[in-house]
Amino acid sequence: MSSKKVYDYLVIGGGSGGLASARRASGIHGASVALVEAQHRLGGTCVNVGCVPKKVMWNAASVAEALRDAKSYGYAVQETPRFDWHMIKEKRDAYVKRLNGIYERNLGNDKVEHFQGWASFVNENTVRVQKSETEAIEVQAKNILIATGSHPVAPSIPGAEHAINSDGFFDLEQQPKRVAVVGTGYIGVELAGIFHTLGTETTIFSRTEHILRHFDPIIRDTLLKEMQSTGVNFAFHTKINALKRETSDGPISIEYESNGTPETLEVDCVLWATGRVPNVKGLNLEAAKIKTDEKGYIVVDHFQNTSTSGVYALGDACGNYELTPVAIAAGRRLSDRLFGGAQFSQARLDYENIPTVVFSHPTAGTIGLTEDQAREKYGTENVKTYVSKFTNMYFAMLEHKEPTAYKLVVTGPEEKVVGVHLLGRGSDEILQGFGVAVRMGATKADFDNCVAIHPTAAEELVTMR
Ligand SMILES: Cc1cc2nc3c(=O)[nH]c(=O)nc-3n(C[C@H](O)[C@H](O)[C@H](O)COP(=O)(O)OP(=O)(O)OC[C@H]3O[C@@H](n4cnc5c(N)ncnc54)[C@H](O)[C@@H]3O)c2cc1C
Repeated sequence: MSSKKVYDYLVIGGGSGGLASARRASGIHGASVALVEAQHRLGGTCVNVGCVPKKVMWNAASVAEALRDAKSYGYAVQETPRFDWHMIKEKRDAYVKRLNGIYERNLGNDKVEHFQGWASFVNENTVRVQKSETEAIEVQAKNILIATGSHPVAPSIPGAEHAINSDGFFDLEQQPKRVAVVGTGYIGVELAGIFHTLGTETTIFSRTEHILRHFDPIIRDTLLKEMQSTGVNFAFHTKINALKRETSDGPISIEYESNGTPETLEVDCVLWATGRVPNVKGLNLEAAKIKTDEKGYIVVDHFQNTSTSGVYALGDACGNYELTPVAIAAGRRLSDRLFGGAQFSQARLDYENIPTVVFSHPTAGTIGLTEDQAREKYGTENVKTYVSKFTNMYFAMLEHKEPTAYKLVVTGPEEKVVGVHLLGRGSDEILQGFGVAVRMGATKADFDNCVAIHPTAAEELVTMR
């Protein structure tokens, strides 16, 4: 052990939540703050293997769609130009690297001390930082935040190691010709959509007959039909038994059961999108008596307090809305509460009505309760829905008519809007403003009183009958 330090605040994890919380505590409130990050790059999942590189690839896929549509808009595009996966990967990696540098500089600007190393608890106010095999320091702090995120998991079946996961998607140097994506949560649907739109033959494996199980049916059913109509293959009610590969770069044979019948499929790449688990192993949480639930998520109250006084947790490590802006908002509010004085004594993130988007093709956006959740919460007789299904004018010039489908879920005689569910071109950008309205408690009449913007798709949301 070489040195001992004492800080007001020690943050474990330099991802979305940790960086935001550390910078707010030090840069705005003047606390003495240290941050420990295990990786040699800052930014966590979102910047390195999540939102950011994913959106670059989604953008690349959107360009492919525009090129496909160009002919119908009068452009003399004879054939779809070749897509260079390797080139965009290199550019994307360089962009992410630039962001890593910006995060590093921002920490310095806000006077947060940055330690690179693996953090583990010694006791409730001391953390050991293993900087290398031979060097470790102990850092003491009055307050400690755990913002260690989560990582993807694979099923334990023979040959599971032949597949990649969402992290591995960003390592692919070349575009696979045939891919199988196993799992139908938003990450699986998004990555499958990117592969397919860029021209990879794509098969999605689902244990049920659904995708995006937790979303309102207007989103999940309309998107499923659209994906099928554009040529994405689906294998429903499947259980994968084994993956076989003869050579390290040869094809992978998927042995699976479909409705109990044994089947095989040969592909070049298999991607597990079968869930994520919190990064809590190796933190030595027991030394600080920090409780986790049966899935390993750190148990916190509404104020991000763990079971141990002076220790807090947020973001993916807690498993409540695993989204970057959620981790950031929770981190900033926590620092306001801890270091911002009396005016912030009740600061906390309200986890109700959090908007979220799926970068599918087309995109989906959702906030609030699904129709089923609303009926369960308010009683079926107190819930009404407004639905609009139409073709966005963009597709009037095209042969393929991509669907748009919107649903408002309202409750009570005042028709308070408790759910907005959107699928269709531009839904990712449309939702944010309607999210503000829902958070403000808008009623259907408030929606109707806003004059429509014409011609847009979003105008349908203020003219629903
Ligand atoms: C493919 C994919 C796409 C996504 N797309 C979106 C999107 O479009 N929009 C969105 O809002 N969210 C998206 N997410 C989710 C988003 O990335 C996460 O919700 C967010 O990054 C969580 O932030 P966090 O601070 O909790 O953890 P992270 O950002 O994961 O940061 C945790 C950090 O802690 C470090 N760490 C872990 N253990 C230790 C230790 N013992 N010592 C030191 N450091 C440690 C890790 O190295 C990591 O850097 C996506 C995720 C994935 C996987």
